[in-house]
Amino acid sequence: MTYPARAVVDLDAISSNVTALADRAGPAAVMAVVKADAYGHGLVPSARAALAGGATWLGAAQVDEALALRAAGIGAPLLTWLYAPGAALDQALLAGIDVSVSAAWALDELLAAVRSTGRTARVHIKVDTGLGRNGVMPDELDALLGTALRAQAEGACAVVGIWSHFAWADAPDHPTVLAQAEVFAEAVALAERRGAQLEVRHLANSAATLTNPSVHYDLVRPGLAVFGLSPVPELGTSADYGLTPAMRLEAELALVKQVPAGHGVSYGHEHVTSGPTTLGLVPIGYADGIPRHASGTAERRGAPVQVSGRRLGIAGRVCMDQFVLDLGPGATEQAGQTVELFGTGADGGPTAQDWAEVVGTISYEVVTRVGTRLPRVHV
Ligand code: PLP
Repeated sequence: MTYPARAVVDLDAISSNVTALADRAGPAAVMAVVKADAYGHGLVPSARAALAGGATWLGAAQVDEALALRAAGIGAPLLTWLYAPGAALDQALLAGIDVSVSAAWALDELLAAVRSTGRTARVHIKVDTGLGRNGVMPDELDALLGTALRAQAEGACAVVGIWSHFAWADAPDHPTVLAQAEVFAEAVALAERRGAQLEVRHLANSAATLTNPSVHYDLVRPGLAVFGLSPVPELGTSADYGLTPAMRLEAELALVKQVPAGHGVSYGHEHVTSGPTTLGLVPIGYADGIPRHASGTAERRGAPVQVSGRRLGIAGRVCMDQFVLDLGPGATEQAGQTVELFGTGADGGPTAQDWAEVVGTISYEVVTRVGTRLPRVHV
């Protein structure tokens, strides 16, 4: 291994996280959401680990992600939901991928793909119960269902799912949670009244899976929790929910050197040494997804890392390929020594959640931003 930094992904942790989620959600089944390269953890190995842990469905936003799972030989039930006109829905049908429909044009394109491939489409109709994002508005659901059920009667498709997504699942007491759940229940009731034979009604992401059993329905759709991070850090840590963070981001020190007092560190000299000290150069930067907001300046503590069991903040600006640590006078670290940026937290080291708090974001963004240049090492 010559690359001096990597994301080490613990596949057993992914499996055991899914088992914990399945235990919590049962009798509902688990769709492991593996979009965005499995939240940065590596699409195919993560999907296999999730299935090994008891997920019976996989979910991927983009059609291409879903096709990549099939190309890898993964045959589990699979849903894709985010596409624009002209998407390769014919390929999705040929690969046996369920397709979400949020609008009349999408259903038209899907039915055109049915005609060109000779395959029947399995449709999940997505309802905008209040997120204000994807999904058909509730007052347009009846018309969309009507078209879909006519096509079903002709053998072109089967409406197998009604689904939606929460705006405030991470604040379980927020009034919109109950309001969305009510709109969802009405949408399901309408579909059933119209004669849809629904296999799966699904609404819950990680936060709702962990905090709100009343909305588990037939299938839950956790993403973040599959990778061991808490979607509700103010309510409970990963450990509180029986989850283990699966990604450890680490790098080897590329240079260790002594500098005098008053030495400016990195672009703009946002950190200046307060006395003679030791600097350590960490060869990973914003091109690898380390936010520039993780920089340590006179005003702001840098994001935490752990080296030799010591927790230090980044010193000075994060650069494209590297950042610097002020290891202190008399430091014993050597070039080649491993620095942990974030991991399970079990060893006292920082977590992706710690990074999120320093950087002012959410742990979702910390892990999904980890760049494609960095090797993923699956263990
Ligand atoms: N379902 C849909 C439609 C999503 O877009 C996502 C991710 O944002 C998920 C489920 C999984 O969400 P989470 O990672 O919060 O569990």
